[in-house]
Amino acid sequence: MSKKPEKTRDLLHSFGLRYSKPRNIILDYFHEKDRHTSAEHLFYDLKDRGHNLSLSTVYLNLSVLKNAGLIRELKGAMGEAIFDSNLSPHHHLVCEQCGEVMDVPIFTVAGEKPTYLLKAHAEQATGWKVKEPRLELRGLCPTCQNT
Ligand SMILES: [Zn+2]
Repeated sequence: MSKKPEKTRDLLHSFGLRYSKPRNIILDYFHEKDRHTSAEHLFYDLKDRGHNLSLSTVYLNLSVLKNAGLIRELKGAMGEAIFDSNLSPHHHLVCEQCGEVMDVPIFTVAGEKPTYLLKAHAEQATGWKVKEPRLELRGLCPTCQNT
């Protein structure tokens, strides 16, 4: 769903950012549907749609939007940065062969998130302080299992 510029302006402001055309274009892209995209993929997709943002503009704005908390970053199959428009808590499945990224909803074990249990366990066992526990599962998607 494409947003009117005023809506995007309000959204950017509420996250402490100024409105700009590139930010509007990038956010519209991310808000059309749940996306997992690299900077380069985004660059080519926007080019196909007739938007003329340079690759460095795309990189710069992705990092601004990520630091403000409007999108999230995860590591793709090759360790590359993938940007995610889904801000609700979830885990990821990453296919090591084709690079597909899929969301897995959070689940609980005895009322606790597994990432919380892992964090508590790791802190107790090692004395470290864990900031942000994340779970990314790697493997083969159904299509790649059959090729
Ligand atoms: Zn995701």
